[in-house]
Amino acid sequence: MSKQEKQIVMTYKYKMYRNKSLRHLDRLIDYHCEVYNYCIALHRRYYKMYHKHLSANKLKVHLTKVRKRPNKEHWRELGSQSIQDVAERIERSYKAFFDAKKEQRCGRHSIPHFCKRKNYSSFTLKQTGYKFHDGNHITILGKDYKYVAHRPYEGTIKTVSIKRDNCGDFWLCIVCAKPASEIIPRKGNAIGYDFGLKTFLTGSDGSRIESPRFLEKNATALRSAQQALSRKRKGSANWRRAKMDVARKYQYVRNRRKDWFYKLAADIASQYSDVCIEDLNIKAMQQLWGRKISDYAFTEFVSILQNQLSKTGGQLHKVDRFYPSSKTCSHCGHIVEEMPLDVRRWESPICHAMLDRDGNAAVNILVEGMKSA
Ligand SMILES: [Zn+2]
Repeated sequence: MSKQEKQIVMTYKYKMYRNKSLRHLDRLIDYHCEVYNYCIALHRRYYKMYHKHLSANKLKVHLTKVRKRPNKEHWRELGSQSIQDVAERIERSYKAFFDAKKEQRCGRHSIPHFCKRKNYSSFTLKQTGYKFHDGNHITILGKDYKYVAHRPYEGTIKTVSIKRDNCGDFWLCIVCAKPASEIIPRKGNAIGYDFGLKTFLTGSDGSRIESPRFLEKNATALRSAQQALSRKRKGSANWRRAKMDVARKYQYVRNRRKDWFYKLAADIASQYSDVCIEDLNIKAMQQLWGRKISDYAFTEFVSILQNQLSKTGGQLHKVDRFYPSSKTCSHCGHIVEEMPLDVRRWESPICHAMLDRDGNAAVNILVEGMKSA
């Protein structure tokens, strides 16, 4: 037996060429939604009759039988594995629901619901049902498609998923696993960052990175698209077109923000080996500041930064969210009791140092974060 090698899993995402054949994929996704809703109904019926949870294995066996029924002829178009995957998806969300219940966590996890067709967006194939050929072609369940092969995928393919988004685009997502190459941890400069609303990042070295606020910049275009949508008769062809226009404008904002995040994270990772940040409680921040937070997408940035750092041998240190980074004086360590949100500069009552709110917090985050390093 060989020693188990460490593997990394990567997802490659490719855009599919737009042509008539995509209608076939559209239909396949709709059929998977039908399977999904069939399974949810079955789960509920089973529970009513036996007061037990229907296991994924039982469901899979049942689905293979259902597929052979005359009224489910169109299900035979779907891959057998992709149908099994629907059962696994439901099992996963039930598990998340039971786990949340066991730990008495409240919030996001609810019992799996029925799904509308328009909200169901993907299906997954595992080992069979697809074949790559001619560089940028793939045969999925007997039909041929072309995709934009902007980069080659590396490693062994684990799954292949087809996704549709609300802009009318189709995506090919290939999950690959490959042996992890040895990354040598490096020691370099360390920095602490404080997230803010006005300034996106304030560094412990005094650097400031302003937020580009893409959502705010595009607010006019978004509003007019939204207004155009509201003037259309619901369900009409014009309404559908206007709806897609809104979706496309939002996607534009999302893409620009993501691009900016990647460039910023790569820049930080190239300069510093240890980055300390606060473990943010986004839910609480949203309650405090409202919707504005979503334009800043801190969570997305943190995960991108984490990724970039681990790729280059750096490390991200998260400081406990209850650590009073803004209330502590970075010179003498005195902690003041109250710190209203509108105070930008304050004076330490003990050592009388004038402190910038965010800069001071960043220094504290750096010191606290490096303690655990
Ligand atoms: Zn002080």
